[in-house]
Amino acid sequence: METRQSKAMFAEAEKVIPGGVNSPVRACRSVGCTPLFIERADGASLYDVDGNRYLDFVCSWGPMILGHAHPEVVAAIGAAAAAGTSFGAPTPAEITLAEMVVEAVPSVEKVRFVNSGTEATMSAARLARGYTGRSMVVKFDGCYHGHADSFLVKAGSGLLTLGIPGSPGVPEDIVKNTLSIPYNDIDSLEKTLTDERLDIACVIVEPVAGNMGCVLPDPAFLQRLRTLSTERGIVLIFDEVITGFRLAYGGAQHHFGITPDLTCLGKIIGGGLPVGAYGGRAEIMDQIAPDGPVYQAGTLSGNPLAMAAGIATLKQLQRPGFYEELNDKAATCAQRLREIAAAGDIPVQINSIGSLMTMFFSTDPVTDFASAMKADTTRYAEHYCNMLGQGIYLAPSQFEVAFISAAHSANDLEKLQKMTEWSFKKMADR
Ligand code: PMP
Repeated sequence: METRQSKAMFAEAEKVIPGGVNSPVRACRSVGCTPLFIERADGASLYDVDGNRYLDFVCSWGPMILGHAHPEVVAAIGAAAAAGTSFGAPTPAEITLAEMVVEAVPSVEKVRFVNSGTEATMSAARLARGYTGRSMVVKFDGCYHGHADSFLVKAGSGLLTLGIPGSPGVPEDIVKNTLSIPYNDIDSLEKTLTDERLDIACVIVEPVAGNMGCVLPDPAFLQRLRTLSTERGIVLIFDEVITGFRLAYGGAQHHFGITPDLTCLGKIIGGGLPVGAYGGRAEIMDQIAPDGPVYQAGTLSGNPLAMAAGIATLKQLQRPGFYEELNDKAATCAQRLREIAAAGDIPVQINSIGSLMTMFFSTDPVTDFASAMKADTTRYAEHYCNMLGQGIYLAPSQFEVAFISAAHSANDLEKLQKMTEWSFKKMADR
């Protein structure tokens, strides 16, 4: 595929934007490419500035569960924009979206809208610390909760892709209050949460990990996490920025039947516009200013365009059978890919749940950070380039998930399967 315009734009971008991108993974370094510059998208297709079309399995890293430029969402944004883009004052749309979130997500009695997932998790941790009067945050290796200082300890996503364990610029004094322990490890969970010397305010977890690739939780691990947190008065935070309105309308907590104290949301609830949210039990949420002493604010929070896009998106998700249809076609696709892998010579592990999936180039099952790290990233890079050349747009890193949207047709998924088979054969023949 000819990508001359993208290459020229990247060279231009690098002069004025660090790394040429506004979020590190987009630079495609770990797969040895330069990024495509996107001109437009609709449904399951992306079009780059050279006029190439790609079948998109990144879906803006999760928000585009309906596919791109869904007519109802675009119309809602247009109508909202025509009525003014920001007022810094309450609007009716904020109540509507808040009511929809409260109704959908089991743990949420009250919700505060912010502008990104990072803001949601950062604010939830502050709230948990304010509410409990304790200081320690416990997280899990390979989980990513945005780029706030407290969470940049053994984090996933771009830090994993780039091999960065933490980040310069984050003071020791801050990260000494963060403890990162292995995902899915009940023993270590037990030891940590019952340690009297630790002043634990909250535990934050991706109920399905999505930022070391897709790693499923052992349901017993989530259950133990809930029980121990309750016993110890620790605030349990589910980071559902990816899984919220994705695994089910009520998120992973509905799927697993485990209710956290606080929930962080983002991505889908903004329908592709910048948004985040955190919510939970009213008793905890009432600690936030102006009702309580824990401060958190935002000039553009509850932005009318983002609220309109979120409401329009959620209305589509309420259609009867939406999740059954989406999850069924994703499960069929994952199963077919497993068969293709089993018939070929390339060892892969396919982790999938709902419309989330990661194909790990590994001989061993992937259940945590250590096993994810065994994946062959060189092979992933080769596969990525093979697929991109055939018009299949995957995440430019082994440690991310592929997202299936309602806009992917049976034909689109068949193309993904055929090209995967072809790519595996090409790699095996080499
Ligand atoms: N939490 C999770 C689980 C995420 O996947 C992400 C981003 N991918 C974030 C938080 C941060 O969200 P944002 O990029 O909107 O700040």
